[in-house]
Amino acid sequence: MFNLVLFGPPGSGKGTQSENIVSTYNLQHISTGDLLRDEVSRHTPLGSEAKKYMDQGMLVPDEVVIGMISGKIDEHPDARGFIFDGFPRTRHQAEALDKLLEFKNTKIDLVLSLEIPEAELTKRLLGRGETSGRSDDNEEVIKKRIKEYHSKTQPVAGYYNDHGKLENVKGDHSIADTFKLLSKHINKYLLPVN
Ligand code: AMP
Repeated sequence: MFNLVLFGPPGSGKGTQSENIVSTYNLQHISTGDLLRDEVSRHTPLGSEAKKYMDQGMLVPDEVVIGMISGKIDEHPDARGFIFDGFPRTRHQAEALDKLLEFKNTKIDLVLSLEIPEAELTKRLLGRGETSGRSDDNEEVIKKRIKEYHSKTQPVAGYYNDHGKLENVKGDHSIADTFKLLSKHINKYLLPVN
């Protein structure tokens, strides 16, 4: 089993690159943002709780997010591996994921961090806001999301670097060129299926 974390700020292209990685390497995609939006659209109690934070560009509490992950992993016992997209976003989540995977006799193998200049991020997120219908892509919320990223999420890169798992990848090329850079790292662990 090969488990990958795709790491990076909001707007760095994690969702798009995850799709490419999933279809090329046949990994199971776990996006906490997608899972939370699904809970919100189904008006579940978890969704109503999460929405309060998401609408303000704040991180949803760790317990809520960590609680969603274990069941999702168990749904795919025959998976070739998992790609975690938008998770972990705090050091506490990273530690919880390590414990959870250890319990399931597996581990995170590689963390690919997409690096994008901040001005480019804001431009991309504002552009997405015009088309996505997402409640968290207006200017005020975007600023808050980037602030949350710097204060709470960036330390996660240090955590994985300390464990020798982090690779930085420049993410401001075209989608195809960025994917080639990501693939070079993944190919050291796993052969493409497509
Ligand atoms: P995303 O689609 O990954 O950009 O996530 C959208 C929003 O969902 C974030 O701004 C957070 O409010 C929430 N969210 C997604 N993943 C997490 C996570 N791992 N921890 C806390 N909040 C999250």
